[in-house]
Amino acid sequence: MSVILENPVNGEQTASCAAQAWLRAKEENVGGYGSGRPREKEPVEDCRVLSAGMLQRNKVLGERLFNIAALTWTNAATGENVSSIGCLVDTIGAVPLIRLSYEITRTGENVDYPVRLTTTPLPWGGFRWAFLCPGWNCGRACRKLYLPPGGRYFACRLCYRLTYTSTQEAHTFDRFLNRLTR
Ligand SMILES: [Zn+2]
Repeated sequence: MSVILENPVNGEQTASCAAQAWLRAKEENVGGYGSGRPREKEPVEDCRVLSAGMLQRNKVLGERLFNIAALTWTNAATGENVSSIGCLVDTIGAVPLIRLSYEITRTGENVDYPVRLTTTPLPWGGFRWAFLCPGWNCGRACRKLYLPPGGRYFACRLCYRLTYTSTQEAHTFDRFLNRLTR
């Protein structure tokens, strides 16, 4: 399965989403994030966007699934792959989650962390899926997560607007991960 998607924010990028081994994404770069320090407020169009609606439409996300997929953002003008992440969706277990895995180009660091998922029943049947933002003290249900240039983790718009510096961000997520592993 491979589907080309419009970037919902600016229409410039497209994402192709294919069922592949998620480990493959670790060998690829998360491109475009290798230079510069994050600004205090990031324009949303510079971010990589992870959309629950997009994942659901492509059947990567749904009820009672265990899915491994690679998500690739490509430049619509050149067709060049600009970044790629691996994801593992598990909605069979007691806690539905999506695990994200990718390499930070500028540091060569591999990150791998779970994001919890939640559902809202739809009046015509089925469910609307959302992420629970992994930002510290956030946990908002949101349909989209963002990874800004210079960022390490996907988080909601609110988190990045309010606390966006690299050190705060790292701190936020280290605490989040500590809490998970306790
Ligand atoms: Zn948040």
